[in-house]
Amino acid sequence: MEESTIKKLVTSIKCSTCGQLYRGGNIDVLGHREDLWFLSVFCPSCRTQYLIAAVVSGEKVSEVITDLTRAELARFRGLGGVTGDDVLDMHSFLKSSDGDFSRVLGGKQA
Ligand SMILES: [Zn+2]
Repeated sequence: MEESTIKKLVTSIKCSTCGQLYRGGNIDVLGHREDLWFLSVFCPSCRTQYLIAAVVSGEKVSEVITDLTRAELARFRGLGGVTGDDVLDMHSFLKSSDGDFSRVLGGKQA
């Protein structure tokens, strides 16, 4: 899966604040672990920035808006060089969950 493909998929996602579709130029791919991708998106309409975790399988993307902290974001930015334990944990968690990701994630803060 290439970043350009991910960006294209994410442009089908609407801003949860104002409903504006995201544009490729406002999507920043931070990194990924297998089919779990971390992205930063900026809505030009309401000027809200989101960190998104998205599970991508084929042509389908399941969006998860996160409330990652800046420190966590910094960790994810270096995905290639970290152990990835947390990411793998999150990945398996997302895979086993088929419902309200953000609600469950919100309650999973360490
Ligand atoms: Zn917006």
